[in-house]
Amino acid sequence: MTLAGKTAVITGSNSGIGLAIARELAKAGVNVVLNSFTDRAEDHALAADIATEFGVKAKYVSADMSKGDDCRRLIADAGACDILINNAGIQHVAPIEDFPAAKWDAIIAINMSSAFHTTAAALPVMRAAGWGRVINIASAHGLRASPFKAAYVTAKHGVVGMTKVVGLETAKEPITANAICPGYVLTPLVEGQIPATAKEYGISEDEAIEKVILAKQPSKEFVTVEQLGGIVMFLCSDAAAQITGTSIAADGGWTSQ
Ligand code: NAD
Repeated sequence: MTLAGKTAVITGSNSGIGLAIARELAKAGVNVVLNSFTDRAEDHALAADIATEFGVKAKYVSADMSKGDDCRRLIADAGACDILINNAGIQHVAPIEDFPAAKWDAIIAINMSSAFHTTAAALPVMRAAGWGRVINIASAHGLRASPFKAAYVTAKHGVVGMTKVVGLETAKEPITANAICPGYVLTPLVEGQIPATAKEYGISEDEAIEKVILAKQPSKEFVTVEQLGGIVMFLCSDAAAQITGTSIAADGGWTSQ
């Protein structure tokens, strides 16, 4: 089986992990639909650059993953959806009693409920095409907790749970649903957490990286976006056809503890 000519929709893909996954898929000849909530020339330029570099069709669709209707419109506007990567996500770090309710609502909507809406819209498209892959970018925080991340840990555990349900509901079809649970990856999302973590713990930013962020990651190395792209390619391959409803941790040993 070749992936060339299939279409992937990657939510939250004008940055970080989502953009790297889009590039990895495009390298294999997959047409890609990029997304975020902004609608800037530079967003559309990312898609144009991928089309030129890899000779695939690529477009950018602006849709806000905090809104259910936008999530469903993204799939409709994509025009096809063989591979759905639910990747959009945000973070906020605060003790639960100080955690702003609006941040809770946004994280639950973007990091968890968006995957419900996009999956609901994409499954009929995959069934009509006779093949599909749903890949949810969860987190080690879908399997383990950390203090000060109430909304994120809740949302990511929810995504891991929903992945199991989708795997079961599609078990008899040529469709799989899996979650990838990365440990810490050095992207803008994590770079933004370093000052907040330093503040919460009352330590320097360097100490926050070594003693708090990578404290949980026994390898003491950040996961790379290219490694996550490679795991996506594996989950899209024939070898992974019977892997469904499960989670693959890529966390330098974090969740083995
Ligand atoms: P990032 O900030 O670089 O990317 C997040 C993406 O989501 C961006 O493209 C952003 O524009 C998009 N986004 C944010 N709000 C959106 C909205 N309302 N609608 C549409 N798109 C929106 O961060 P990243 O590290 O690449 O994170 C990608 C995913 O990986 C997230 O779900 C995150 O929770 C998960 N993850 C990251 C790490 C890590 O260490 N970086 C670890 C585990 C899991």
